[in-house]
Amino acid sequence: MSHFDFDFFVIGGGSGGVRAARMAAQRGVRVALAEALGTDGLGGTCVNVGCIPKKLYSYAAHYAEAFEESHGYGWEGAAPTLNWGTLKAHRAKEIARLNGVYANLLRGSGVTVLNGFAQLQDAHTVRLATLNADGSPGHQTLTAEHILIATGGTPHVPHFQGREHVITSNEVFDLEPFPQRLLVVGGGYIACEFASIFNGLGAQVTQLYRGEQVLRGFDDEVRHFLASEMRKHGVDLRLNAGVVSIHREANGLHVLLEDGNRLVVDAALYATGRVPNVQGLGLEAVGVAQGAQGAIVVDEHYRTNVPSIHALGDVTARVQLTPVALGEAMKLVDHLFGPAAGKPPRGMSYDLIPTAVFTHPNVGTVGLTEAEARERFGHVTVFRSEFRALKHTLSGSQERTLMKLVVDPATDRVVGLHMVGAEAGEIVQGFAVAMKAGATKAVFDSTIGIHPTAAEEFVTMREPVA
Ligand code: FAD
Ligand code: NDP
Repeated sequence: MSHFDFDFFVIGGGSGGVRAARMAAQRGVRVALAEALGTDGLGGTCVNVGCIPKKLYSYAAHYAEAFEESHGYGWEGAAPTLNWGTLKAHRAKEIARLNGVYANLLRGSGVTVLNGFAQLQDAHTVRLATLNADGSPGHQTLTAEHILIATGGTPHVPHFQGREHVITSNEVFDLEPFPQRLLVVGGGYIACEFASIFNGLGAQVTQLYRGEQVLRGFDDEVRHFLASEMRKHGVDLRLNAGVVSIHREANGLHVLLEDGNRLVVDAALYATGRVPNVQGLGLEAVGVAQGAQGAIVVDEHYRTNVPSIHALGDVTARVQLTPVALGEAMKLVDHLFGPAAGKPPRGMSYDLIPTAVFTHPNVGTVGLTEAEARERFGHVTVFRSEFRALKHTLSGSQERTLMKLVVDPATDRVVGLHMVGAEAGEIVQGFAVAMKAGATKAVFDSTIGIHPTAAEEFVTMREPVA
């Protein structure tokens, strides 16, 4: 046994930190995990103010659509109204339950869970700011052979006049009262998802994006198609648009736009990106190398330039997704403490990471965009299908679905798969497995469809786009 207090000290109880701590403890390693927000913060961004509450609110918004569409199927009656307070309370209860599940999982695995903000003192020492029994500030100093920084990210809001009036995704879940008029600034995952969600919940949503089209980095056709669908659903999406200033008056927030127009809204949500959560961590003092916006620089084994200190997840500002943080945590634990009995060490591949944007309708994607594929392979074959889903033949909804395959003709491999439509996230997950296995277009073609579904279109597209 080493002379350190712990073998492995994890800073941050989010997706990556909790997974790393649990897996390491299961290897018989002495593990501590510090979470700045205490047990209530366990689960991190994803559980508390990210994936989970966001998806719950997205489900809530879908009910409004479902009620409207049900008339075409013969359902009658007045439209129900949303009790925002009930939704918030039920969400909070579920999140508290999940915090408890995480605490039990950690303690059950033998992890020492510490409440407090951690700061590096040296390559093996962490200072933990805590509260004494009488509520006064105290601290603990602990040593460990290996330290993992998994402190995630935090929303970034640009500087402008009136910045103090805006909220971020951290505050949006508990807004009071419900914002009847909501401004959303940004064109990434969070902006598009919350514009869709609040539009679905009944708010009048204006979304401003500074560029030519939302979701930069996604397939161009997907971006245009999604924008058009979001507008059909009622989002007032304005491109090449931005805010000059915001000030508060009795009837709401008065927003001056770059084009000279004005808006009055109840709340303004800034979803203008996230930056690594490194403030106060003591990285500079210990000499941990950082990149743009403070992101911690790591090698392929998540080791920083200080050999005993590792980092993974959003704080390294690479792919900011929960399953990526989980995969990185498992690779790191296998590397540091050996794989589970009888299992090979786990790797972590950044190729073909599937992802979904939970807009209404969803975007689901895996692999290369058409433009990326053209750049890599020169020539590509594209298959495309656009249709109105069977459900909407009676529902009255004008929502359309887009599906697209990008194929490398030299190998016949499907190198990109994209969808805008209901449950795209659920559908694309399975196709990602096929693509990881190297599926060719011929394999897609020889796969029998499940009828009648939207997903079957992916195996029945025969004619390439001219
Ligand atoms: P986090 O989960 O952020 O955890 C970091 C933890 O460290 C926090 O609990 C924090 O309190 C703690 N901490 C910070 N500093 C200290 C310190 N000095 N001492 C002690 N503790 C500290 N990803 C998906 O895959 N799917 C989604 O649908 C999705 N939706 C999202 C929606 C929103 C609104 C947001 C914001 C993110 C979403 N994400 C989604 C991204 C996902 O939440 C993150 O990629 C993931 O949580 C990153 O995990 P992490 O372990 O790196 O950090
Ligand atoms: P993104 O990086 O996805 O998007 C940020 C958006 O804000 C972009 O449209 C960007 O424009 C715009 N922007 C940046 N700076 C400014 C500025 N100064 N003024 C105006 N607009 C600005 O970040 P998000 O905050 O949406 O999400 C962070 C990450 O969290 C995502 O990248 C994703 O990895 C993860 N996430 C995943 C989800 C999922 O899996 N479903 C859901 C939510 C988040 P431009 O494109 O021009 O740079």
